[in-house]
Amino acid sequence: MTASASPASVRIQFLGTGGPFASGARLQTCILIESSGRRYLIDCGMTVLVAMARFGIDPGSIDAVLITHLHGDHYGGLPLMILEACVNAPEGSTYPPRTRPLCVAGPAGTEEHVQNALDVFEWRTPFATMKNAGLLQFITLEPRREAAIGDLRVTAFPVVHYTPEATALRVTVGGKTIAYSGDAAWTDTLLDVAADADLFICGVYTIDVAQGGFVNYRTLEQHRDRLTCKRLVLTHLGAQMQNRLGEVKEEVASDGLVITV
Ligand SMILES: [Zn+2]
Repeated sequence: MTASASPASVRIQFLGTGGPFASGARLQTCILIESSGRRYLIDCGMTVLVAMARFGIDPGSIDAVLITHLHGDHYGGLPLMILEACVNAPEGSTYPPRTRPLCVAGPAGTEEHVQNALDVFEWRTPFATMKNAGLLQFITLEPRREAAIGDLRVTAFPVVHYTPEATALRVTVGGKTIAYSGDAAWTDTLLDVAADADLFICGVYTIDVAQGGFVNYRTLEQHRDRLTCKRLVLTHLGAQMQNRLGEVKEEVASDGLVITV
């Protein structure tokens, strides 16, 4: 039982709320969770360092990054964070060098994808440098099996998307539960992901385009009454969603938005 501990407030900041194509100049998917002095990211799009610079966040202060799936707009910022940790600080960064380990938790294959991305971009040494210094650790999130990542309890739920490893995540910290769909078509799995969550963040790319790998807004609305989350916020907005926000009745995130639960 944890009832004796008063729940601490958990701060969530959207560091990126767009898709991969910069529609509306939105940054790519990234969600910051802060609780009890620790900082975590959920997904890590390629614009992550821009977002952190914009919102005054030291990349070295991030304890862990959770990855939903291995599309570049969801994990492509990790190579940059690893490079920054090795190179930027000694060259006069605003922030001191990273001293705390960075834990990366994601689907099977995450470590290989991150290492391969660094190799492809010809940043070949930072991966080994970080690992040898004990500053980089990878954890594979097994489907529907709760994992402890720092103060987080994380469960990954397989979802339907364009990559077979895609998951939604359910994160509990400080007595609060934050659920996130990642990129996912509608399946009733999302009901489990969002069940009684303090906040359900749902990626909704279009208003009404039929896509095999994304729930659109119309479909989400058909199932809205079945979702038992306390609060729903939409993110990962494509151009169509942004151009027709007047039709959207749900709360919509914007870059920098802060929510406290
Ligand atoms: Zn995707």
